[in-house]
Amino acid sequence: MFGTASRGNSFRANTVQKHPVHKYPHLLNFYDKPPLDDITLDEFETFAIDRLRILSEIEASYVRNRSYDELKAIVKAQQAKCMPLTASSEKKEIVRITEAERRKDHISHFVLRLAFCRSEELRRRFVKAETSLFRVRYDMELSEDRKRFLESRNFGWMTLSREEERDEVLMNDLRTVNPGETLWYKVRWMRVPNLVEKRRVCLKGGWAYVPSKEQSSIVFQEFETRLEAALELTAKALPRLDEDTRLMPVLDHLGQGFLSGLSVASEYSSAEGLGDGEEVKAEMIDDLAEKHWPMCMRHLHDCLRKDRHLKHYGRLQYGLFLKVVGLSIEEAIVFWRKAFGGRITDDKFNKEYKYNIRHSYGLEGKRTNYAAYTCQRIITQNQPGPQDCHGCPYRHFSADRLQTALLASYGPQGLSAADLPEIVSAVKQEHFHVACTKVFEATHGLPRGQGLDGESVTHPNQYAAKSREIEKAKLESAGAVKAEVKDDNAMEF
Ligand code: SF4
Repeated sequence: MFGTASRGNSFRANTVQKHPVHKYPHLLNFYDKPPLDDITLDEFETFAIDRLRILSEIEASYVRNRSYDELKAIVKAQQAKCMPLTASSEKKEIVRITEAERRKDHISHFVLRLAFCRSEELRRRFVKAETSLFRVRYDMELSEDRKRFLESRNFGWMTLSREEERDEVLMNDLRTVNPGETLWYKVRWMRVPNLVEKRRVCLKGGWAYVPSKEQSSIVFQEFETRLEAALELTAKALPRLDEDTRLMPVLDHLGQGFLSGLSVASEYSSAEGLGDGEEVKAEMIDDLAEKHWPMCMRHLHDCLRKDRHLKHYGRLQYGLFLKVVGLSIEEAIVFWRKAFGGRITDDKFNKEYKYNIRHSYGLEGKRTNYAAYTCQRIITQNQPGPQDCHGCPYRHFSADRLQTALLASYGPQGLSAADLPEIVSAVKQEHFHVACTKVFEATHGLPRGQGLDGESVTHPNQYAAKSREIEKAKLESAGAVKAEVKDDNAMEF
């Protein structure tokens, strides 16, 4: 099927086809050679982050027990968003596009190798996610292009020799294991351990006879084995990079995000609003918190209302979130002043708190427009003490406390005790963002696995904005139905 070698008396390996012109003639890539181009630091980081978004959704799909078809749909959507790959074509214009896209794919893979080669755990997870990504792309690839890709490499599989085809005992054995099959490939059995484990191949004399419908397993296994070996080599070479103060913080950041089960979220630094252009006023916050805040912000809001105070990190986490939600500096001062109430004097508020609020809006000190905290940052940094309200409840609450808090906060929005086991299970596997996404789905009437347009929660502001968007869409469609009924009634009259 894929080989160009004719059959003879001896085993033949495939002939490798080389492409004369393009640097990236195939959409599929085994990443044998590192990129040698010059790349900017910005490309180094942004390419890797885009790839990480896809890999994180693959990981989340495992935790959520999504079927392969569901995973494929998620990867397809994420890929279209973060790292589109156009099918090969001879048209000049398309070649220009595909070369740029494939360059990004190539570079991003190698940056993540650097980030994820440093521990056994990271390597294992990276190999699993990358192999799944390769498999999805392989399945989505046009059959002609896939064939060309397979011909471009030597996979070391062999077709049966004439002697073997005449060997009735062997052929009977092969047909017993794979009834209806007419074509087999021979490889050493160690190359297809997964097929051996599932008893999908016939074993003889150290060879595995792989039916043609399982040929892709050899390709995936080869990809996995090569990547494992390459990561170990990279790990040995990595200490040489340790002194590079430009790259190491980026690599640390990427590795930390993947370990905490999160991709690196987009930065939210300026007022993004809630996506409806409506100005957010201090007096709206109670209502918004009840309907749209994720659990971390619900908890901070409830603490603030109960204690009329938040400690430093709590104020930072909540204040920056509110800034990005769209609370102006004037409204923020009104909000915090009222929230503290009579517990402190105006004088104390102005001296100790107002400056810090203005500072977080970039109006004092270094005048930096600070970004709102991502889930990754909330989960991994500034661990809360017993009296603190900041942090991520999925990460920092005990299982009992979390379940009670979730039912109290989201029960009125449709979360029930029946939803809790799946949420707790995701928390136990340390996929806190998956637990948060499940709560989002349960409280917004979304089908299981849909997430936020196919993505998991990576940022509290992303959660709030999507929640508001869903509510707005519901209100609009209810309004449209009402208007239609009114029109119909008018017609009847
Ligand atoms: S996962 Fe993110 S948004 Fe959800 S509660 Fe934790 S920190 Fe907040």
